[in-house]
Amino acid sequence: MPTTAPTPAELDKYRAGADRFIAALDQEYYDHYAGLKDELELEPIYREHADLLTLEASQRLGEAAKAEPTQRMHELWRFACEGYLGGLTREHAERVAALESTLEVQLGEQKVGFRMLRPTMANEPKSEERAAIERARNDLTDRNINPLHVEALAVEADALRSLGAPNALALYKGFGLKLDELAAQCRGFLDSTERLYEKAADKLFRERAGVSLSQAQRWDTVRVMRAPEWDPYFKGDLMVPALKATLGDLGIDLDEQRRLGQVVVDDEQRPNKSPRAFCSPIEVPGKVMLVIQPMGGADDWRALFHEAGHAEHFAHTSADLPVEARRMGDNAVTEGWAMLLQHLTDEPAWLNRRLDFPRADEFAWEGAATLLFFVRRYCAKLLYELEFHATPVSQIEGLRSRYVELLGDALKIEPSPTDYLSDIDPGFYVSNYLRSWAFEAQIRTHLKHEFGTTWFARREAGGLLRELWSEGQRLDAHDMLKQVTGTEIELEAVAERIREHLK
Ligand SMILES: [Zn+2]
Repeated sequence: MPTTAPTPAELDKYRAGADRFIAALDQEYYDHYAGLKDELELEPIYREHADLLTLEASQRLGEAAKAEPTQRMHELWRFACEGYLGGLTREHAERVAALESTLEVQLGEQKVGFRMLRPTMANEPKSEERAAIERARNDLTDRNINPLHVEALAVEADALRSLGAPNALALYKGFGLKLDELAAQCRGFLDSTERLYEKAADKLFRERAGVSLSQAQRWDTVRVMRAPEWDPYFKGDLMVPALKATLGDLGIDLDEQRRLGQVVVDDEQRPNKSPRAFCSPIEVPGKVMLVIQPMGGADDWRALFHEAGHAEHFAHTSADLPVEARRMGDNAVTEGWAMLLQHLTDEPAWLNRRLDFPRADEFAWEGAATLLFFVRRYCAKLLYELEFHATPVSQIEGLRSRYVELLGDALKIEPSPTDYLSDIDPGFYVSNYLRSWAFEAQIRTHLKHEFGTTWFARREAGGLLRELWSEGQRLDAHDMLKQVTGTEIELEAVAERIREHLK
């Protein structure tokens, strides 16, 4: 029987079902990771909404997207396909997670869990010991974990064929992702920042890990990314008050949002609460949870402000928008808003206004150098993932050396070849982060131009942000940026933003 596109009534029913399904998942994630409920019970939710995520639903929405190739229709089609594919490989993902949390290595007197091997290496002073731990980790990965990844890829490859796509890359291009254009920008960014990176990373690695960039090994990055010397300035008990005051300057009353249940800051201490801040948009808008266990330190502040950016975006999204624009859409937009608030925490003007902070320029320098590291890593990852998702499973093993080559060239630090299967973000999420960094840099330039260096303390800037947030994800990052600033998404804007602080 030929597949037919859903009728308008069927589409409305599908939208309503998707809305309830995502709400139930977000409620469950919140309950579990906020430490209110021990088990994470996703299976019953998937079972209840199973008809949304079938092959048939994916194929029928594919027909609808062919007949009406709008962004809205692409979103529904993508939602169904990702749910269908995810369902087929969920068991593999669970087995990988179980192995990662149970595998151990005997190191001298003590056993060290798989996930603690990298941090252990970072703290191990003897290089021959580090090399031994690395060999043990690689061995476990290749023997136990990588075969599961290959199995999942084979399952996915069959499913992709039934969705009419030769591989995942073709499927995602069909959803409207302009990955080739972004890849060209990544190559440009890697070129234009090569010298800048070599100089900045060398200084950063020397200061924080005591090694030059040319001597640096992958385990040194753990120490470089963690800079405890700034922690005393980022006190735990000041986090939520600083967020409240920052939002207050923009004309947003966090207490009032809490009273109305729109944004609920859950900062209670609970034993099983996730140590990392997260946002759970249970209802968009109407019930957005911003969860934090305030411990303090620069990382913790960064995470809170990032998640607060998501929370305010979702809480201000217009209730009149369809589910495609409220809960689906281009996540580069919500990541962009999250980055805008996150980057306040290394903005000298903000640090001087909000905190008693010495050497703000030095801190901003480190922030820019770290950002450069991550953007270059993601550029290389996108280039790698484009090859990865176009390679047949039978030839996947051949990508080991490509992974090392692309990531190693970008960072001047060789990654472990055994990570070539696990260092993949589902659904090309790397493209969301890359575009969100550009979006943030370009929106920030616009805000500074319109409202001055301390734009974040201007109520008019808050008015503009609230207006833009109300659009949810109706527009993709490109169209939204174009509407606000008249410019296209340009990764080079991130390079300029970085150069500003690396002077
Ligand atoms: Zn985020």
